[in-house]
Amino acid sequence: MLENNIKIVIDKIQNVCFRSGRNFSDINLIAVSKTQSIEIISDAFNYGLINFGENKAQELKQKAEQIKLNLIWHFIGHLQTNKVKYVINHAEYIHSVDSKKLADEINTKAEKINKLQKILLEVKTSDEESKFGLQTEEQVFELIEFCKSKKNLEVVGLMTMAPFTEDEISIRKSFSNLRMLKDKINSCGHNLKELSMGMTNDFEIAIEEGSTMLRIGTAIFGERNYN
Ligand SMILES: *Cc1c(COP(=O)(O)O)cnc(C)c1O
Repeated sequence: MLENNIKIVIDKIQNVCFRSGRNFSDINLIAVSKTQSIEIISDAFNYGLINFGENKAQELKQKAEQIKLNLIWHFIGHLQTNKVKYVINHAEYIHSVDSKKLADEINTKAEKINKLQKILLEVKTSDEESKFGLQTEEQVFELIEFCKSKKNLEVVGLMTMAPFTEDEISIRKSFSNLRMLKDKINSCGHNLKELSMGMTNDFEIAIEEGSTMLRIGTAIFGERNYN
């Protein structure tokens, strides 16, 4: 089932790329492996997936230390400052930076291990209440400047979550907002490459709107079991 799911997801990505004029090679598929066992993650790796995403700091650390394969870890969840220490050795990318305090702590911990930490800034692009992320353009610009002044941080892009809805128009709007913000930032002399957007229910829209990093869990591994 896993092998087939992966094939179906990749087929869908290829199809959307074809009809929307995107290059398949510009899209990174991140398998969101939260709650999944190291056996299942290893299987997914053997079926060709390389990028894996986790949203809990200790869970990422534990899995990264146990799995001896050459995979690339992404931290995609809300990160508390006191948990940076768990992810700093393992996460190639941290997708969810939304405050100076957090950025500063990541920089400090990265400096200690002499690492240039790739990060994305999480931006709130819809009116939903419970979402983390920077709320205004001004805050995003301010945080980018702040990160630029830190020598162990590299801001590579922006991340967002679309609203939890069936309404395609508001999902699309959320993604296009993020793309336009990236373009605006780059027109001010920055060079952000990545747009981390699109999950199981909305990744096709995300590709059409310019996503370069899809974070897909359920479509690959099936429904999560939180027990
Ligand atoms: C769980 C999670 C995903 C994946 O969600 P699916 O709907 O299972 O594809 C993507 N991004 C974040 C931040 C998540 O926490």
